[in-house]
Amino acid sequence: MKAKKSLGQNFLVDENVIARIVGQVAPKADELIIEIGPGHGILTEALLEKAGKVVAIEIDSELVQELKITLPQNNLELILADALDLDLEQLIHSQLNLHPELKNKVRIVANLPYYISTAILTKLISASDLIKDMTLMLQREVAERIASTAGGKDYGILSVISQLYADTRVLFPVKAGSFRPIPKVESAILQLKIYPQPLVEVLDRNLFVKVVCAAFSERRKTILNSLKSHYKTIDSKLEPSQIAIILEQANIVLTRRAETLSSKEFALLANTFYQYAKNTAHNL
Ligand code: SAM
Repeated sequence: MKAKKSLGQNFLVDENVIARIVGQVAPKADELIIEIGPGHGILTEALLEKAGKVVAIEIDSELVQELKITLPQNNLELILADALDLDLEQLIHSQLNLHPELKNKVRIVANLPYYISTAILTKLISASDLIKDMTLMLQREVAERIASTAGGKDYGILSVISQLYADTRVLFPVKAGSFRPIPKVESAILQLKIYPQPLVEVLDRNLFVKVVCAAFSERRKTILNSLKSHYKTIDSKLEPSQIAIILEQANIVLTRRAETLSSKEFALLANTFYQYAKNTAHNL
């Protein structure tokens, strides 16, 4: 079967890398692994040996047919679906209804196709209260950006959002030659260990994301000016003049830039927007 470029099919062929990933995940007999994009099942097979159950979501029906024959099926559930369309939270809830003992033991492992990696990560983070951790193969630069901390030039929207919910770090790089076909970019394994509670409980997740996106929309500007230019994406009923008041209420110096604000500060800022709108009877 020829690899489908359009589906980001770069299959892992390096046994050492597979052993390192499985060693880091160290799946246990009482855990559920959800794998996105099992491909020819090279990782899936190694996970199945140790995990209680593996649910693998694959978009390519030819691969699903192949895996039905090549992999042991006793603790494997194959789902033919586009992981972007799938209701992940519902999937996890239905697994937990079947196996209540798996609560807090749901883990994600994926060698993600690059073309959907950030969309999938965003989706996974919004289901993070149901997930214990995520071990993801990503393009190296993307992984490094997500794990970089406040103050760095690589720090951005996904770093802020990921780090509010998880201890986020790059475990190790993976060379392009570890895949077939060989991709044009290097890869890395990113691990997100979800905190029992986010660093700050956000009052409205959508609003938090909107504030972070508006703040980073113009990296060179101060946070005041970025938010002033994009306040309508946060709340169309706000007046630009109110942004300074909100930043001051959140104890954020107006001349700071988005990349200097920690996840915690962004969450507190989003909560201040929320409270401000509530107090002034805006509907966000
Ligand atoms: N896990 C395998 C490995 O490590 O060799 C395959 C990894 S390959 C980079 C990505 C896999 O994700 C492919 O099998 C591809 O068909 C599948 N895939 C691509 N887009 C997908 C989507 N939207 N939903 C689910 N699977 C997808």
